[in-house]
Amino acid sequence: MAIFEAVFKETSHFTAEELLDKAREIDRTVSRATVYRTLPIFVESNLVREVDIGTNMKYYMPNAEENPHKAQVICNDCQKIFEIPAPFMEWYGNTVSSKLGLSPIGQRLQVTAQCEELKASGVCTKNKGES
Ligand SMILES: [Zn+2]
Repeated sequence: MAIFEAVFKETSHFTAEELLDKAREIDRTVSRATVYRTLPIFVESNLVREVDIGTNMKYYMPNAEENPHKAQVICNDCQKIFEIPAPFMEWYGNTVSSKLGLSPIGQRLQVTAQCEELKASGVCTKNKGES
């Protein structure tokens, strides 16, 4: 229950470790194993969306929105994930799938970018001090 509560308090992307911290703020007895066991179940039930940005780290996001067509813009340095509505993706998915006689069930568009901080200073605070 603490994990469930922590997930839906999130308004942004989170990793399993971040979720563990948040869940422990609610209930100190939550174990890491339980978080890692529970997340895939949430994903399977469509409560949570997995966001794969091509790194080893998996990000998650509560699946609250009705319109799943979002483009992700990811900072090349700190890997902050921005999401913007991209209704054209629905058209795109339908068009390319129908050419094959198929029906789309999911798609994603990712753009790598520089966040404001990277643009301004050349390095993101989140990455400073890490090697
Ligand atoms: Zn950045």
